[in-house]
Amino acid sequence: MPILPLSPIRTGGKPARITEKRLEVDGLSFDVHRSGRRKTLQITVERSGDLSIVAPTGAADQEMLDFVQEKLLWIHTKLEEKARLQRRAPIKEFVDGEGFLYLGKSYRLRLIDQQLVDLSLKNGRFCLRRASVHRARDIFVSWYGHRAQKWFAKQVSEHATRMGVDIREVKVQDLGFRWGSFGSDGRLLFHWKAILLPPRIAQYVVVHELAHAHHPDHSANFWIKVEQHLPDWRNRKAWLAENGVQVEGL
Ligand SMILES: [Zn+2]
Repeated sequence: MPILPLSPIRTGGKPARITEKRLEVDGLSFDVHRSGRRKTLQITVERSGDLSIVAPTGAADQEMLDFVQEKLLWIHTKLEEKARLQRRAPIKEFVDGEGFLYLGKSYRLRLIDQQLVDLSLKNGRFCLRRASVHRARDIFVSWYGHRAQKWFAKQVSEHATRMGVDIREVKVQDLGFRWGSFGSDGRLLFHWKAILLPPRIAQYVVVHELAHAHHPDHSANFWIKVEQHLPDWRNRKAWLAENGVQVEGL
């Protein structure tokens, strides 16, 4: 598809710029996605603060600009909300007594002088070898990654069959601001941090991503699919939006 040249369009006196892939208006920049299956416009504010707009294939530029203008207050409110939540994220210190999450529970850290492994979870405590404390963050990330790999692979194998989805591979990695990601090649990715969530919330992430095998977008049909497998998905989704950020400080 040819990329349209940036052309200034006027919206309420403010200059706006729009290309095939990008829309800039009022100091905000949106990724533009067009879909033949969409009938209406939709704006998404990501956890990172990134903005995107999904539009029907034939939607006119002016239509998108008007839509954005109409939603400006809502967009700015959302952006402020995300910024506020980000500021609330606690930063962890690797000292005796600090709490670290694992599957929704907090376990206190204990520095151990003599220990064969860098990190272990025993008797309700995270035990970290004192000599390894300078690379504690990497050690925790790797520990979480291994646990996440096992836990999510098991969850996926249970839910995928029920949801009629074929999954080739489950991988755990740093996904930035996303909890999970569904690849059309049958690969399912999860953020290692997702293993810090309570099991019922992490399960929602699994079902959410598997539902994308049926519907790549967040259309009404997508949520119907989620609801078939998790009738109380709304609660879990709301919990994640409100509390998910707390697991980010590491
Ligand atoms: Zn999604």
